[in-house]
Amino acid sequence: MTLSLNLADTAARNALRSPAPALGRASLIGLTRAEVAEALVAAGIVPERQAKMRAQQLWHWLYVRGVSDFAHMFNISKELRGQLAEHFDIARPEIVEEQISTDGTRKWLFRFPPRGAGRPVEIETVYIPEAGRGTLCISSQVGCTLTCSFCHTGTQKLVRNLTAEEILLQLMTARDRLGDFPDRDTPDGAIVPAEGRKISNIVMMGMGEPLYNFEAVKKALLIASDGDGLSLSKRRITLSTSGVVPEIYRTGEEIGVMLAISLHATNDDLRDMLVPINKKYPLKELIAACRAYPGLSNAKRITFEYVMLKDVNDSLADARELVKLLKGIPAKINLIPFNPWPGNNYQCSDWETIEKFSDYINSAGYASPIRTPRGRDILAACGQLKSESERMKKTDRLALEAMMIAGHGEA
Ligand code: SAH
Ligand code: SF4
Repeated sequence: MTLSLNLADTAARNALRSPAPALGRASLIGLTRAEVAEALVAAGIVPERQAKMRAQQLWHWLYVRGVSDFAHMFNISKELRGQLAEHFDIARPEIVEEQISTDGTRKWLFRFPPRGAGRPVEIETVYIPEAGRGTLCISSQVGCTLTCSFCHTGTQKLVRNLTAEEILLQLMTARDRLGDFPDRDTPDGAIVPAEGRKISNIVMMGMGEPLYNFEAVKKALLIASDGDGLSLSKRRITLSTSGVVPEIYRTGEEIGVMLAISLHATNDDLRDMLVPINKKYPLKELIAACRAYPGLSNAKRITFEYVMLKDVNDSLADARELVKLLKGIPAKINLIPFNPWPGNNYQCSDWETIEKFSDYINSAGYASPIRTPRGRDILAACGQLKSESERMKKTDRLALEAMMIAGHGEA
């Protein structure tokens, strides 16, 4: 059974609603410390000599304590709290829907207020609990400019890039909902160590291509990994890209998180069809960028994602080519059973074929886990995310259920 709180349920909606986002006030979330200090001085509410100290104080409240209302910042004077609230916004997005799968996976539909003259946008974020860890799958764009032929997000045009604030707010709001921030009112502001947290890892694998929104993603991930704030180790942050080669080099130099590559094919002809950005950055260039990724070792490997498509890329000859292609790169190969969606032309490989493929790669010395599809009953699996503006029609949903029952795409 799926637990779903949705728009029709006004009481549930109000219960989830954060303080109303204030239109027109600048957000302090997603700014660097120096930018927070500058903003305080520019607003004329903090003298220059105090700015650095105040920025640090706010940083702690925002990112260690997870406060979303200036009124809770009790070591700041009432007068300054009032001025901060007049000028700045630190509210969470509206939670339009929260669904909990039978396997514990949660999916949220968040609504962010308009930026400038634009409209509000809605995006999906997914939490996947596993033994010993919990992973949050974060979106970087509303829709995607790319059109990978097996991906549902790829059928939705890009609405816009998310800001650094919106990327971070997915993590912060999910931590609120999971009780993953320390109690706001503990005077010592106890820090929850990363190992004790429900969200121990984040992956940029939601909607969108993170490297086509490089600056915002970089800013958000540097804040998420800041040791005096949200404090997630860069080893526990993975950025997945379809292969935007110049920005892979920049990711290594400027962000330093773990890298995942959506490979899916071992030759240019097939990859041009499955992942069309390959026409711009063919395999040779992509693999060269991977080889050059800083700090690679057996302990720090690149993950290659490979979606298993029946009779398309799942033969043993493909497995052989894959091993050849990746030779010498410290790599893990993540086999993803294809997740179906209405209107697609693919089927998931048979389980036996996936296992044979995995065994071949494994015997060549690579870890080759098969990704267990999670949260399928709430359409939270890889490549199934889409925003409210393009939610599934009931007829599509029924068609999908029929497909699952018939066994297509079932792993
Ligand atoms: N845009 C980025 C990150 C988001 S997609 C990227 O392409 O890497 C996260 C992963 O899910 C990617 O490897 C993507 O190729 C894969 N994926 C997309 N649609 C899928 C589907 N229907 N079934 C299984 N995996 C899918
Ligand atoms: Fe965009 Fe990634 Fe989907 Fe390709 S797989 S369309 S890059 S979200």
